[in-house]
This record gives sequence, C-alpha cells and structure tokens, in this order.
Amino acid sequence: MRDDRPSILNHSASQKNPAPSPLSVHDLWVEYQLERGMVKAVRGVTFDLRKGESLSLIGESGCGKTTLALALIRLLVKAAAIRRGQITYRRDGRTTDVLALKEREMRAFRWRECAMVFQSALNAFNPVLRIWDQMYDTIRAHGGMPKNQARENALRLLGYVQLDPERVIDAYPHELSGGMRQRVLLAMSLLLDPQILILDEPTTALDILTQRTILDLMKRLKAEIGFSMIFISHDLSIAAELADRVATMYAGSIVELGPVNDIFYRPAHPYTLGLIRAVPTVTGEFEDLISIPGSPPDLIDLPSGCTFHPRCPYATEQCQGQEPVLTLYEEDHAVACFHSDQVRREADVMWKRHDDQPAGEV
Ligand code: SF4
Repeated sequence: MRDDRPSILNHSASQKNPAPSPLSVHDLWVEYQLERGMVKAVRGVTFDLRKGESLSLIGESGCGKTTLALALIRLLVKAAAIRRGQITYRRDGRTTDVLALKEREMRAFRWRECAMVFQSALNAFNPVLRIWDQMYDTIRAHGGMPKNQARENALRLLGYVQLDPERVIDAYPHELSGGMRQRVLLAMSLLLDPQILILDEPTTALDILTQRTILDLMKRLKAEIGFSMIFISHDLSIAAELADRVATMYAGSIVELGPVNDIFYRPAHPYTLGLIRAVPTVTGEFEDLISIPGSPPDLIDLPSGCTFHPRCPYATEQCQGQEPVLTLYEEDHAVACFHSDQVRREADVMWKRHDDQPAGEV
C-alpha cells in the first residue's frame, strides 16, 4: 500500500466558511478478501465533509462509492476490512474517532449521528411489518424515546416528506408506490436527528417525475434541517442538481474533487471529462456521445501507475509507471492527474462548442 498521498484535510481551512467539518476521512483503505485474491475497493481516500454541504460521489459501478459509504458507518460485509485510515466525526465540540468505537457505541452512532438511506427502497423494508413498526423498531434500537413521542415524531416526519401521515404510518410497504417508499425511508433516516445523511442512489428505479419530486424534497430538507449529505449517484444530472461539491471516484480512489460547477464545466481529470461526454441529452443525437473505451480495472489486479491509463487518451509513459496523487490544482479543486492542464483546455473547448451551438441542437 502506498503511504505517500498528501493530506487535503486542510481544504476547508481555506474556505470562506471555516465551520469545523462534521466528518473527516483520511487515507482510508478498504479491502475484500475473496478466494481469487484481495479486492482493493477503497484506496487512500481523503476528504472533509463540510457543514451543511451536499457532496456527491460519482463514478461507474464498482468504483468503490458504496463500499466507502458503508465503511463510514462501519456496515461492511464480513469479507471486507478497513485496513487503515482515520474517520473523525465532530458535533457540538466533541470529536469522535469512528474506527475506535465499540459495536454498541457504533449502533448509537448510526442513525443518531450518521444515517444512511440504502439503494432500492422496497428491499430496505421488512415486507410483513407496517411502516410504524419499522419506524419504532429503529427508534428503539438506537436509543429510544417514549412510544407516544416516537409516534408523534414519525407522523410529523411523514408529513414533512409530503405523505399522508395517518394513512402511510399503518400501511405495509407493498401498499406504497416506489416514490412513497423512498420518502418513508427519508423520513426514517431523519427520525433521530442525524447530522449526516448518506444517500446511496436514492432515485434509482424511480420514474423521472418521481425522481424530480424526491430531488426537490431532498433539497428542501437539506435547506430547512441543515444536515450534511453524502450523495452517491452514477447519474450525473442528479449529482449536478443536488451537489455543492463532487468527488469523482475511479478504481477505489478519489481522482477529482471540487465545487460542482468546476467539476462539470471545468473538469481537469480525463475520467470526469469522459463521464460528462458520455451523458445523453434529451435533444442530442446518440452519435454525439463519446463513451470511455475499455472497462473499469480488476480491483484485484490493478494496472501499474495511474489506474486509468489503459483507458486514458492523454496517457504518457509517466502515467504507466507512476500513480498521481490527489493534489490541489486550483483553489478548492483537487485532481490526481499528471496532465490536468491539457484536460482542462479540452473541456473548455468542448463547452465553448456547446455554447456556440444554436439552441435546440444540444
Ligand atoms: S495521470 Fe495520465 S493516465 Fe492518469 S488520468 Fe492523467 S493523463 Fe490519464
């Protein structure tokens, strides 16, 4: 394992809002032991989550987004292990070393401090329990409150996510639509007033109009309640709409991290640029799309040097022999690439061409 990655923990120190980060992750490594070998799923990830921000993790399936999220709340499967790193949580002047928490303390940490909404709303529920029973189970398992107060709280939150609380609270999951179940999950995640919410592809499998409703709801909840959010998505348009900052992940590492407009309009990593070019628009032609050649690497047997080099149009000899580290490229924008200037120039040309096109042709 490499140990030469520079810390970008002090990123937030240079920001206008110096409020302490609720979560700092430093040099985190997660591996899965499989019969075939060791899967390096998360490799040296370092970032700060800022207070009240929405940070989106983007990248192809299997790039380590979900493993990273599960590692943050230590809900990894048995075959996985956090090999090294630090996860530091802060609230009200208290600092917690998450990796040092005992399992009992960890149970209190989940939901109370950091809640996660998992992929696929239907699978997240027990099909034979009513919504109220599942909400109350969650409250009891994570510290509890009097039953009357818990029900009142549950009704309030269901109303808050724009559901009919009295009808939904006593319904079974199968009696609710996908969008309703997703809103119930959001309400459940807020039951214990967490400071951080992690959402793993919360709009996948929902139709486009329901996605719109859920996105609007999440924006409103974040603005009104003020939690910090880590939002995992492979859908760039959703990430663009919801995120304050975006982290691009490739082969278990963050390869680019910056404000949402920088990442989408002025990317400096070839992989981010490739993801943007591969997004279809409603009115664009499919011929205009440029896919990223090849497929993601085998995480058991990673390429030498930069893990993206076999797919990268900018790769040079240096890229084959040396892995770039995530370093500040410009204020608040970090990139792991030896040829960022070249990528940036190409991104500028791409967007200029796009802007010069008559309306309706993009
Ligand atoms: S370091 Fe080289 S191979 Fe890696 S992304 Fe940059 S240009 Fe491509």
